[in-house]
Amino acid sequence: MFVTRVPELFGSMVFNEVVMKERLPKDVYRALKQTIRQGTALDAQIAGIIANAMKDWAIEKGATHYTHWFQPMTGITAEKHDSFISPCADGTVIMEFSGKELIKGESDASSFPSGGLRATFEARGYTAWDPTSYAFIKDDTLCIPTAFCSYTGEILDKKTPLLRSMDAISRQACRVLRLFGKHVSRVTTTVGPEQEYFLIDKADYKKRPDLIITGRTLFGAKPPKGQEMEDHYFGSIRPRVKAYMAELDEELWKVGICAKTEHNEVAPSQHEMAPIYATANIATDHNQLTMEIMKKVADRHGFVCLLHEKPFEGVNGSGKHNNWSIVTDKGENLLDPGSTPMENAQFLLFLTAVIKAVDEYQDLLRISVASAGNDHRLGANEAPPAIVSMYVGDELAAVIDSLVSGTDYRATGKRSMDIGVTALPAIPQDNSDRNRTSPFAFTGNKFEFRMPGSSFNIACTNIMINTAVADALMAFADELEKAEDFESALSTLVRRELAAHRRILFNGNGYSDSWREEAEKRGLLNLHSTPEALVHYTDAKNVGLFARHGVYTFTEMKSRQDINMEEYAKVIHIEALTCLDMLNRQIIPACITYSGEVAKTVAAKASIGVDAPVEKAKVSELTELTAKLMEKEAALSATVTAEPEEINARAMYAHETIIPAMEAARAVADALESRVAKAYWPFPTYAELLYYV
Ligand code: ADP
Ligand code: MG
Repeated sequence: MFVTRVPELFGSMVFNEVVMKERLPKDVYRALKQTIRQGTALDAQIAGIIANAMKDWAIEKGATHYTHWFQPMTGITAEKHDSFISPCADGTVIMEFSGKELIKGESDASSFPSGGLRATFEARGYTAWDPTSYAFIKDDTLCIPTAFCSYTGEILDKKTPLLRSMDAISRQACRVLRLFGKHVSRVTTTVGPEQEYFLIDKADYKKRPDLIITGRTLFGAKPPKGQEMEDHYFGSIRPRVKAYMAELDEELWKVGICAKTEHNEVAPSQHEMAPIYATANIATDHNQLTMEIMKKVADRHGFVCLLHEKPFEGVNGSGKHNNWSIVTDKGENLLDPGSTPMENAQFLLFLTAVIKAVDEYQDLLRISVASAGNDHRLGANEAPPAIVSMYVGDELAAVIDSLVSGTDYRATGKRSMDIGVTALPAIPQDNSDRNRTSPFAFTGNKFEFRMPGSSFNIACTNIMINTAVADALMAFADELEKAEDFESALSTLVRRELAAHRRILFNGNGYSDSWREEAEKRGLLNLHSTPEALVHYTDAKNVGLFARHGVYTFTEMKSRQDINMEEYAKVIHIEALTCLDMLNRQIIPACITYSGEVAKTVAAKASIGVDAPVEKAKVSELTELTAKLMEKEAALSATVTAEPEEINARAMYAHETIIPAMEAARAVADALESRVAKAYWPFPTYAELLYYV
C-alpha cells in the first residue's frame, strides 16, 4: 500500500466528524455535538435526520444491514443484524432506518449472562446508542456502538458503567480544578491499550483440540528452544507476519483505529500492536474491534490469532497494557508534572489521588484482571505478580519522601519541599529506565497498568481506576473546599495522604521473592487466584464506592461477581474435559500403539535369535509411563465428577483440585511426548507450533 493512500483510507468506514459536518444540516450537527459534549438526550426528530444520513452514507459504502453493537458481560462484543429493507405496498422494498431504530434497539437478552439480574420471563433488554462513539461499517453492516440494559433498568453491559465512571471522575476532577482557579466543564480519561497476541499456523491449530476448544495448549513438552535466546523481541519480523501486520493496520485504519506500532514480543510467535490513545470509552470500543479484526485478518493469512493469556507454558503469556491519564476539555493532561510551582502542586494532588485510589482499591484492580486465563500470568515470572503496587520513578519517590518526612529534597538543593512554593525537579519522561516489573507504573505523564489479560475487555479495569480516583478526588475536594487557607490545607492533605498510602509504592523488582515477603509485611493484598480475588468484589467498602458515584448498584455488582465466578469454574471444567478427551482418544492410544510397535520389534528380533535390550527397556519405560498416565487420567476424571454445586465453592474447587489434577496428568503426558516417535504423536509439538516458517 502506498503511504499517500493512508490519509484517505483512515476512518473511511467511520461516520465521523468530517462525514457528519458534510452530511448533516448545520443545526442537527450542532445538536448532536451538544449531546456528545454534555451527554444530554437527543431529540427524536433530530435522531431521525441523523439516522437517515447515516443510512445513506452506509449504503453508499456497500452496507445492507445495521446492528446495535454492544458489550455484554462476557468478554466479547455482540451484534444482531437487521437489514435496512422495508417492504412497500407494491411488492418492492425501500431502504429505511429511523431515528427510533438508531437510538434504541430491542434485544432478546436471555442468552447473555445476567447473573440473575433478569428474570427469564422478562428476557428482553434494550440497547441505546452511545453518540460519543462513532458509528462505523464492518462487514457490510452499519455498527452503532450502544449500551445494553434490562427493561427494569439494570445494566447488562460494560459500556454503561464505564461511561458512568467517566462522569464520576469528571465531576470530581472539575471540583478540584476549581480550587486551582480553573473552570473546566469536562475532564476525560484517556486510554492507550497495547495489545499482545500470538500468531500460529492455521494448519497446526486445526490439529490441536486444546487450542480449538480452550484457546490454550493443555499439553506440550518444552521445545529445545524457548525464549532464552531473547532474540525475538524487536527482532526482524517474518515476511508472512509482516504481510499480516500490514493488512491489519489497513483494516484498523479504515474503522478509525490509530494503529501505531507493530512489533515482535518476547516469546517466539508473539507480537504487539499499540494504538494511539483515545478517550476511555472509544479506546475500549476500538480495542474490542481490534481483537475481532486481528482474528479475522489472521484467517486470511493462514494464521490463527491467539488472544489467550497463556497459550503456551514456559514462554511468556500475553497481556494488555492499559495506559491511562486524565485530560481537561482544554487539553491539559492532569498527570503532566508541569513546570511552574502551581502546576506542580496541582500535579502532586492528582498523583496523590491516584496513589490513594490504587492503595485503597487494590482488590478491585486485581478483580478487574481476574480470569482463569490470566491466573497463569499473574504471579509467574513474566508478568506483574498478583500483588498490586505502584512505581513512580526515583525522582518522584524522592520528592514523596521529602514531602512526607519534611526533609530537604537533595537533588534540587532547595529547602524542604513545600507544595505550591517550590518547583519540582524536572521529571523525565524517558522510557528507557522504567521499571518493567511494576504492575502500575508512572511513565512521565500517564500510568501504565500492566495486569490486564490479552483477551480482556478493558472497560472493567478503567471502571475501577476511574471510580477509585474519583473517590479520592471527592474526598480531597470536600476537605479543600472548606479550607480557609488553600495552600496550607493542600500541603497538609498531600503530606498526610502520601504518608498514609506510600506503602503501595515500590520501585524495586516486582518479580522477586523478597518483594512478596516485603509486600506481606506492608499489609498489601496478594490475591493469588481468581476465586480468591472475586469474593472481595462485594466487600462493603467496594459496594459503598460504586454506590457513592452512581456507577453500580449492589445488585449489579453481585451479578458481575457471580458471572465471573461461574465463568471461571466453567472454563476450568471445559479444560478438564478437553484434557480427558485428548488423553483418552489421542495421547494414550498413541503411546500404546508406539510401545506396541517397539514390542513387535523385540519379538521379531527374538524370533531370529537376537536379543534387543534397548527396545525392551524402551517398551518397559513407555508401558510404565503410560500406566502412570492412566492413573492420572482416572484421578482427573474423578475430580471432575465431584464438583460441588454452589458457585463460589465450585470456583475454589476448580482452582484447588481440578487444576492440580490437570497439571499432574500433563507432566506425565509431556514426559511421554519426548519419548514417543514423532510420527506417532497425535498433534503438533511446541517446536512446530512456535517455529513455523
Ligand atoms: P511504550 O510503552 O511502548 O514505550 P509509549 O509509552 O509511547 O510506548 O505509549 C504506550 C501507549 O500509551 C500508546 O498506546 C500511547 O498512545 C499511550 N499514551 C501516550 N500518552 C497517553 C495519555 N496521555 N493517556 C493515555 N495513553 C497514552
Ligand atoms: Mg508499554
